[in-house]
Amino acid sequence: MCLVVDSRGRLPGRRVDGMSRLRTVLSLCVAVACLLKASEGELLSAAEPAAANEFSGERAYGYLKAICELGPRPSGSIGMQKQRAMIVRHFSNLDAEVTRQPFRIRDRRTGEPVVMENLIVSFHPDRNDRVLLAAHYDTRPYPDRDPVDPEGVFVGANDGASGVAALMELGRFMPALAGPIGVDFVFFDAEEYVVDRRDPYCLGSIHFARRYVSDPPPHRYLVGVLLDMVADENLLLPQERHSITWPDTRGLVDDIWQAAAEVGAREFVPRPGPTVEDDHVPLRTIGRIPTCDIIDFDYPHWHTTKDTPEHCSAASLETVGRVMLYWLTRLQAGGRGPR
Ligand code: ZN
Repeated sequence: MCLVVDSRGRLPGRRVDGMSRLRTVLSLCVAVACLLKASEGELLSAAEPAAANEFSGERAYGYLKAICELGPRPSGSIGMQKQRAMIVRHFSNLDAEVTRQPFRIRDRRTGEPVVMENLIVSFHPDRNDRVLLAAHYDTRPYPDRDPVDPEGVFVGANDGASGVAALMELGRFMPALAGPIGVDFVFFDAEEYVVDRRDPYCLGSIHFARRYVSDPPPHRYLVGVLLDMVADENLLLPQERHSITWPDTRGLVDDIWQAAAEVGAREFVPRPGPTVEDDHVPLRTIGRIPTCDIIDFDYPHWHTTKDTPEHCSAASLETVGRVMLYWLTRLQAGGRGPR
């Protein structure tokens, strides 16, 4: 995750790099397991064992650890290449259609080209009305907020791996997702290929959004949801400020937080949070895809060497994953959803 304005909702563009300003006294909600007995039974074929009927935070956390074991994964790195191969293999095994979307940038320091690649994972590609679920999968090159070692090793367990891990587990349920709406998972490269403050953010999502407009696919995205920093061991999810300010995403936020309330996920708090300049901004402003951001920005290890798996939790991933699964299922049933 890249930039934040502040928790009082000042306009974007005034980029305040200040975790400390956001640090209000927040109650630390211990993740509560959400029970989705009614809806999840419909998602899976009868052939699958009952134990597979629920989003597993433990399995998602296992993915998170496996990703971090690859090491730092900034754009263009060996770690990124390994992770890309892992993601392609994982979703191919789920019979999803995986499309690579390569692009290049020129590194501002060296002048050398850097190869970037978004990954688009499609479930039920025949369905023209689709939902986009997204996460960035690159990590920041350096833990520049680390008070001791700002050029140390940064593995981005929460800021990088968490969204990917949640989607890897969620993907297991997508092939059996009945209903009229297809689902794409999009993994953005270069969300924060940022070595100094002048470097631009969100290059992957900007590229994706531009392509969606200039070379439109046959399908359309009804809405999008971005997952970023969703594994904090002290998970708390207020509503990101852009997402509740834009008129075309306000209803989407209401629906997701309502779904969370229905499954007892009290970590989803229906009150305004900080304004975050994240990948949902180009998706919405360039791509015209109404997209909200689910993000826990109150993470003390943000952009430090301590953003490691031990500060993340399976329970938090499970909370987010189950809310998303419940919301997607309800969307298919036509109860609530894109308007
Ligand atoms: Zn970040």
